Amino acid sequence: MNDEEHYAPVDFWTAVLRGWTGRCPRCGKGGLFRSYLKMRSHCPACNQALEPYRADDAPAYFTIFIVGHIIVPLVLLVERWGDQPPLWFHALLWLPLSVALALFLLPHIKGAVIAVLWSHRAGAPSPSTGGLDGSV
Ligand SMILES: [Zn+2]
Repeated sequence: MNDEEHYAPVDFWTAVLRGWTGRCPRCGKGGLFRSYLKMRSHCPACNQALEPYRADDAPAYFTIFIVGHIIVPLVLLVERWGDQPPLWFHALLWLPLSVALALFLLPHIKGAVIAVLWSHRAGAPSPSTGGLDGSV
């Protein structure tokens, strides 16, 4: 497979949407994940290597950023216009909502980050090319 076949012509937003829905950014058919957040080594449909694309901490960072920017304003709105409800009300409402929102967003954001890396050809070099050692 040469470089142009490896990176089939897929526009950026199509690739990101495919990643967001947990599908291969190249073909849109195979799944990116074999479990909740575990990446497949290759796409089962088009055999695109997925291992070089490592999202690392970016999905967690973006998830925390987005959840915080959704939940904190809601907390402040309820506090201001909700006649200052007791703390147990806040804990009962916002803790489960924050966890549920983070668990929902995390695989979507990880897929989108993988798709962005793929579309920018930002995969880690393979060990045979003198790059990373691959043990991580
Ligand atoms: Zn594929």
